Amino acid sequence: MTTNRIDSCPICKGKHLIHKLSYTDRIANKPFDILQCSDCGLHITQLAPRLQEMHEFYPDNEAPCYKPAQNACDKWLDYLLSKWYKKQVQIVCEESERRSGVLLEMGCKEGCFANAIRNNGWITHAVEHDPTAREYGNKRFMLQIEDGRRFFDINPRSYNVVVAWDTLGEAVDIHRTMDKLAQLIVKDGTLIIAFQNAVSNDAKQYGASWSGWSAPRKRWHLTPSAFETLAEQHDLEVVNQRHSTLIDTITTLTSEWQQTAKKSLMTALLHCITRAIKGKENNTYYIYTLKHKQR
Ligand SMILES: [Zn+2]
Repeated sequence: MTTNRIDSCPICKGKHLIHKLSYTDRIANKPFDILQCSDCGLHITQLAPRLQEMHEFYPDNEAPCYKPAQNACDKWLDYLLSKWYKKQVQIVCEESERRSGVLLEMGCKEGCFANAIRNNGWITHAVEHDPTAREYGNKRFMLQIEDGRRFFDINPRSYNVVVAWDTLGEAVDIHRTMDKLAQLIVKDGTLIIAFQNAVSNDAKQYGASWSGWSAPRKRWHLTPSAFETLAEQHDLEVVNQRHSTLIDTITTLTSEWQQTAKKSLMTALLHCITRAIKGKENNTYYIYTLKHKQR
């Protein structure tokens, strides 16, 4: 397999990359090293495959949200996800201060959010690399999800809102992608970028079992400080930062299942409750709202 070896941090250019852990991808059952930049905090998947070879690491069967719920855990997860899609629509409306507009989703997976926001009156475009997820979304929701490779061909200043729900980490070239994301919004447009925090309490607790790593599909594992540096480098102003308890809970559930290899709903829920009692430091899922810097 042809791979890209990373020797320096793409954000701060530092060369102090330390081995953090080895994560075994559950689709191809292959291990990948996760490195940590000791200067800015970015975490990196070492030797991630090139884009044209990534198909091996996407599920080749039905998309996850397509499967009927098998047990109480699956049903609970389905319920949380259905809540999350509604919450995403609410977040977009609040952060953009719009009730409708033209929106692009970068990396829409099966198109569940794209479908939800279209049903709320938004003109919605979406791109996705995973062909199985794309075909599912087009068939199930009658969307017109484009191949992710078309992303860089889209005309600048085309959207009121561009969203990337935990997909910036999948970019081959994180700077080229940030440039394009910024370029795609109109002058007063809104860019919403969410990511799972690589230094969250859950990432520390679950280690190699943390579902947020999702390597090698995710090449870059962001932290608030690394992301804010990146935004600054691309002339973007952070106007709001929020987190999602819903996604924190979903990530905990899936990490618990990944760690124990069995779906113990009670254990996972108890952990979610314990974390909620302990406080909100080092949350798992952060959502940033960005605008062009005013000159
Ligand atoms: Zn760095």
